[in-house]
Amino acid sequence: MLICLDPATHQRSGAARAPDGASSSRASGPGPGYIRTVQHEPLGDIGSAGLDRTLELLAHLVTLPTESRTSNRALIEWTADHLRTFGAAVSIIDGPPGRANLLATVGPEQPGGLLLSGHTDVVAAGEGWATPAYEMTPVDLAAGRGVAGRGTADMKGFIACVLATVEVLDGSALVRPVHIALSYDEEVGCVGVRSLLDQLAAGARHRAVRPDLVMIGEPTMMRPRHAHLGKVAYRLDFAARAAHSSLSPFQPSAIGSAARVIAALDAVAEAHLATATRDASGELSADVTVNVGTIHGGTALNVLADWCEITFELRHTAAFDPDELLGPVWDCLERERLALVNVGGGIEIEEITRYPALMTDRTVNVVAVVERLADRGQSVPVGFGTEGGLFAAAVDAPVLICGPGDIGVAHRPDEHVSIEQLQACLAFLPRLIDALCR
Ligand SMILES: [Zn+2]
Repeated sequence: MLICLDPATHQRSGAARAPDGASSSRASGPGPGYIRTVQHEPLGDIGSAGLDRTLELLAHLVTLPTESRTSNRALIEWTADHLRTFGAAVSIIDGPPGRANLLATVGPEQPGGLLLSGHTDVVAAGEGWATPAYEMTPVDLAAGRGVAGRGTADMKGFIACVLATVEVLDGSALVRPVHIALSYDEEVGCVGVRSLLDQLAAGARHRAVRPDLVMIGEPTMMRPRHAHLGKVAYRLDFAARAAHSSLSPFQPSAIGSAARVIAALDAVAEAHLATATRDASGELSADVTVNVGTIHGGTALNVLADWCEITFELRHTAAFDPDELLGPVWDCLERERLALVNVGGGIEIEEITRYPALMTDRTVNVVAVVERLADRGQSVPVGFGTEGGLFAAAVDAPVLICGPGDIGVAHRPDEHVSIEQLQACLAFLPRLIDALCR
């Protein structure tokens, strides 16, 4: 299938015509213009018009400041309208006030096909930008031209590529569907996607969403990735009774209790130090890592601390159960809690984040297909977390991560994506759809 965009409107439209010039009766898109459809030819690269359109879409997405824990409603509603215009069946799955997920389907509502997934939230822009954070701005990069703005890499660039691809997609020519899932609040612990996945698992709607591949478009420089660590993170609040420091042998201090728990966490990490490896590029990794990220507590040098708060995280491969790993820590915590309760204190435990590890079987055929189409080398694990593990648990399908841009520039001022990366994604998506849905 080959589809030409009207360069003025960037909308597929007008009467469809066979290559010999005869008119076809295929349903057309909105607005004036011309569209040419040839059945069964590859979708191929959507070309420079596709890049222009992607940049227009990305520019609009960047102007919507969908920082985590703030509203993404305007983006979801705009995207839903847009996808409906191009023939998608769209559901909006409400979250807390102001936030929502989106699930759209192009093509037949039946099992198989492809699910393209992205998160709509971005990390707060913060200070230090050379260009306005919420305006997409052309920039010169060492690697050529690019555009800067919050979310350009993580991951509105991918979403713009998906939307531009849908604009030239003829759903009636698909034999298996293309699904699009957009979530909220991924950056604060994959919060939003869970209600979307609950609905998929329950089959409450979009009963037929059983794709052959879930593709998460996080920035990987378009190199496919099949695995990442899972993570749990907690906040622990220790409360004790303030007293003169000379009573330290006889009365627990909140800081002392916290220190013993930290030592128990260290022991978990040390037990897995031997698994640390260095890959060919020099990158270090381990099967289990633990970090105590913050600690605050106490009031004065000569006072037994009546409070202490720590936050910690544990990251793990799919081979490990985080709750099992933390067993000795919870035992230590219980001993400390009983001591603190004796002086009228205690310990409050708050789970901040939890998402599972991802480990897609590299030997399944679709991995080789994606590696060949992306043409950026073999899939290797990735060092950051995604919604992939949650998708793998909810949808019985291989999950891969592959998207435009460099994770190294995400979550920072001057976030950007190169034109080359957007073009690579625009070339990749139609080929992937051709391979899985036509
Ligand atoms: Zn991301």
